[in-house]
Amino acid sequence: MTKSEEEIWQILEKISDPEIPVLSIIDLGIIRSVTVNDNTLDGISEVLIHYTPTYSACPAVDMINAEIGVSLHAAGFKNLHLKQKLFPAWTTDWMSEAGKEKLIQYGIAAPIGRSCDNGKLEELKIVCPQCGSNQTILISEFSSTACKALYKCSSCLEPFDYFKCH
Ligand SMILES: [Zn+2]
Repeated sequence: MTKSEEEIWQILEKISDPEIPVLSIIDLGIIRSVTVNDNTLDGISEVLIHYTPTYSACPAVDMINAEIGVSLHAAGFKNLHLKQKLFPAWTTDWMSEAGKEKLIQYGIAAPIGRSCDNGKLEELKIVCPQCGSNQTILISEFSSTACKALYKCSSCLEPFDYFKCH
């Protein structure tokens, strides 16, 4: 990895997901590659970033794009190519362990298991992010967004979101 590429990864680490601000886009695992060509004719480094949006129809995608553009521009990277890579599709498996930890602290139960397990929500033992109890009940398969399910804890009686495997 070149020095510029390292610098860009560090900048991207500071860009948060508009829907879950505690998660950076690196935590989400949506950045597939960062390539910098420093040997251009005009001396301006050429940056190529491939990323896979979490949900292609998500309005957050435009916000993330804009944020990446502004942040890199501010750091002096003025020639940026941002390319979507839709295959393979993003899965919760790409979310970092640190990201899952941050989700729980934010009050959202992190995805359990691998996306390919296709476990039924009713069969999962979801732990309450508030009190740590595993006495939780599924209220609705869809919460504020389609990617989350709504649960209620039988111990502390608080409702909470579970970030579904996907
Ligand atoms: Zn609880």
